[in-house]
Formats: sequence, C-alpha cells, structure tokens
Amino acid sequence: MDRILGQPAALDALRNQLATQRVHHAQVFHGPAGVGKFTTAIAFARELLCHDSVTDLQGNQSACGHCASCKLFDTLNKADDSDDPTAALRSAHPDLHIITKELALFSDDAQVRSRKLTSIPVGVIQEHLLGPASHSPALNHGKVFIVDEAELLNNTGQNALLKTLEEPTAGTYLILVTSSEHRLLPTIRSRCQRIAFGPLDDVAVSRWLSEHHAELDEQTAKWVVGFAQGSLGRASLAVRFELVEWGTAVLSPMQRLAKSGRPEPNLGSAIGGCVDGFAAAWVSAHKNASKEAANRRAAALMGSMISNYARRRMASAAQQCDPQTPGDSEQRLEPWLGVISAVTEFESQLNSNVNLKLCCEGLGMAIHGALLGVAFSS
Ligand SMILES: [Zn+2]
Repeated sequence: MDRILGQPAALDALRNQLATQRVHHAQVFHGPAGVGKFTTAIAFARELLCHDSVTDLQGNQSACGHCASCKLFDTLNKADDSDDPTAALRSAHPDLHIITKELALFSDDAQVRSRKLTSIPVGVIQEHLLGPASHSPALNHGKVFIVDEAELLNNTGQNALLKTLEEPTAGTYLILVTSSEHRLLPTIRSRCQRIAFGPLDDVAVSRWLSEHHAELDEQTAKWVVGFAQGSLGRASLAVRFELVEWGTAVLSPMQRLAKSGRPEPNLGSAIGGCVDGFAAAWVSAHKNASKEAANRRAAALMGSMISNYARRRMASAAQQCDPQTPGDSEQRLEPWLGVISAVTEFESQLNSNVNLKLCCEGLGMAIHGALLGVAFSS
C-alpha cells in the first residue's frame, strides 16, 4: 500500500486494522471517482491474502512479497498497463474476486450478456460473489471480494448481499467501492466499515502525470491538472480522449465573451459537439457501453469543467476586489455565479431527460446571459 498516492487518512485506518488484526469483514471505500479507491482495495487485498505478512518495528504489517499469493499479485502489477486492467485482475488470483459491471458480458445467461452496461445485474452477484463465497479458498488463506462501482447494484442486488454481510465467514472480506455512497441502501451501509477517500492535491496529480504521461507538453499537462480536480481517473480520461480540445472549444469563447462582451454564437453547439464527440468515442472504445450512459458521463464532465473554470475565475476576481467599494465584489463575482447556476440547471435538465442537444444549446445561452451582464456593466 506504500505506492498509493495521497489518501493518508484512509491508509492509516486500513493499516491500523491490519496492525490490530481487526479487519472488518465488510467495508465501503467511498469518495470521488478516480482518486485511488479501487487501487487501494487491490493493495489491501494483497495484504489480507499474504500467507506470511511481516511486521515492522512500528507494528505496521505488510505483505511478504514472496509467498504464492504475493507472487500472483506481482503478475497483476505487470498487467496494469493494459487497456482493461480489471480483465487481467479478474483471472489472476483464485481468491481475489473482482466484480464489475463488465462481468455481465461473460454471463451464462444470454439476456444478461446482451444488455447495456448501466448496472450490475443480480445474476452477476449470484454467479461471482454468492457462489464463490460459499466455497473454501483455493490457497487456503482467505478470500477477498471487491465490487467496483457498487452503486450500480440495484436494490435486488444489494439485498442479495445482505445475508453475506450478516453472516460473515471467517477469512472472507468484502469491499464495496463507490463514488455515490448515497445510492447504497442504509441496511448495507450500516453493516459496513466506511473508509473515506478525498481528492488528491494538484502536486500529486502532476507527479502522476509526469510519471505516466511524460509525452505531454507543459501547457497541456497544466490544463489536465486543472481539469482533473484531484482525480487521476479524470486526468487519465482527459489525456486518453484529448479533452484539452474542450478548453479551446468551450472555455476560450467563454473567456472572450467575458472580456469583450461580444456574443459567441457557436458556444452552445460547441458544447454539444464536444459532449457528443466524447460519448461516441467512449462507446466505440467500450464494448456494450450504452450511448445514453456515455452522454450523461460526457455532459457531467462538461458541466464540472465549466463550473470549475467559473470558480477559478471567481477566486481571481475576488482577489482584485476593492474592499473600500461596496458592491464592487458583488459585481465582479455575480457573472461567474450565474455560470455556476447555469450548470446546475443544465444538470437537472439532463436528469429529467430533456434532449441532450437542447440542454447544451440552453447552457450556451444561459452562459451568455450570465457573462454578458458583466461585460455591459463594466
Ligand atoms: Zn506474501
């Protein structure tokens, strides 16, 4: 677990469980997407499944690195660079069970197999969790089940887990990884130990980028760090799908709009074009991905990029405010607050299934409304 970036509080809590030999049989790793929850779950599983853990002078326990289990984990690390690392993870260790929505693609049930990947079907839980949970571990040293994106389990799937949570088998550990903890049933949450993960700081994201994407020029890397907002998952998406172009297509016209007060008539369609382009690329890169889910994901990324930009502009506007002039700060901040509420409105429209193109056009117009106000008054 020493190689995990950031997350000192979560790692301390987990190390403490290992040192005191009080590992909770069911845990929820929750926090923003892409900050290392799943990676930590795998690293923690390595510690739990090691046959010969070593304890240092401070009482910290760590995996030995040479037992049969550790060797299997080492083969995993080598497979990390592949396009779908969970595919390698799923088959690498007989007592490490990774449950993801993608497992539906391999179901014996043709109906489960052909559906779009927007949830984890209860059939997948039965086949890959409840079934193996009742068998003895292959290496005779415990079993770990990790459910990634656990919020994608519907109520039936979550209820199916309850029995395992209520009657834990010794040496069997369940980790639910989620970025939307509120979507887990209270009955699930109350039976699990909750471990909170937070966003990483920009320095950590920058370091990760220079290690994994040394090919990026300085300006692009800086843009990606801003876009990532502390999430390596977002950083990695931005690099893979070249989202730096979103900055040129959407943020640059917003900047011009705020500065010159002249309308940017193509802003709404530029927003729509970026969202649609990302969703199409996502669907073509992921077998069985649903276009609707990809649209939502793209729109959510777009919304957070715009509101994050508005927040940064507010922060720099706040620094320039004259404290002696009442009303000055309000006048400088108001347009960007308007942009943030335009994004909130955009997100609620998306949730009520308004046509995506219309939502994007509407967002473009609302941004005009918010920003032109300032340009005229200053
Ligand atoms: Zn070991």
